[in-house]
Amino acid sequence: MWIFVNDKFVEREQARISVFDHGFLYGDGVYETLRAYKGRILLAARHLVRLHQSCRLIGLDWPMPEERWLALLSEALRRNNLTDAMIRITVSRGEGELGLDPSLCLKPTIVILAKPATVYPQGLWQTGVRLALVQVRRNLATAQPPQIKSLSFLNNILAKQEALRASAFDGLMLNVEGFLTECTISNLFFVKSECIYTPSEDCGILSGITREVVIALCREHGLSLEEGRYSPDALMQADECFITNTSLEILPVCEVGNHPIGNTCPGPMTTRLHHLFHTNLERLLT
Ligand code: PLP
Repeated sequence: MWIFVNDKFVEREQARISVFDHGFLYGDGVYETLRAYKGRILLAARHLVRLHQSCRLIGLDWPMPEERWLALLSEALRRNNLTDAMIRITVSRGEGELGLDPSLCLKPTIVILAKPATVYPQGLWQTGVRLALVQVRRNLATAQPPQIKSLSFLNNILAKQEALRASAFDGLMLNVEGFLTECTISNLFFVKSECIYTPSEDCGILSGITREVVIALCREHGLSLEEGRYSPDALMQADECFITNTSLEILPVCEVGNHPIGNTCPGPMTTRLHHLFHTNLERLLT
């Protein structure tokens, strides 16, 4: 496995970062996860814009021009002989003395690693998954904005642990006001009487790129979609529910807690949207 570390591709065994790296010491850094289909990356430019935004929001200088990123992402696929793949970009504050002051670090650390796309059991899309409505609340957006795709992931890890203890596929978090937000690495949608609902960004969610694709597809195909603040009760009364992310695409949810969602899983709207996602994939690939 060839991994890009700072300025060159090295074999996995040589891919090392310093114990003084502020990403390791303080979670001071940001990341992106991208997906490649048949050797082409889904919405690569959009992911780079989000990475750029994450860097800007933590005051980290944008380390490379877009063309260089795109070239490195392609090289990561090529060197590892990958076509259907996940690519993870990590940009940390870099190596520096102990202390929170970012100016202690002179140069960001950049890591790009590509691996075969995760193969989930196909049955997940046929039966749907169960979510746990966890006690852990989503970080206050005014404390750590979720638009920063940050290396500090403990909020989500605590929620994931709670979900695993409940034998659920993932944990669904509420915000401090008790409104639905998102799962630990995915966005939430539900359907009621043929209208699609998803928590709005001001609920304190990451604006997922798959979420954006689903919203655009709904607009293009005249499907009713509303973004807003929803209580768990609205979800419990829904006809369908699904979650979205780069790796899972659109995954049906059959149960939240021990409460079944709707009568059939996957529901017709979830199936339609996943079909639309695939028929439109070609034009979204770089
Ligand atoms: N929400 C959170 C907290 C995430 O970490 C992710 C992905 O990592 C998502 C949502 C989904 O984002 P995307 O569709 O861009 O993969």
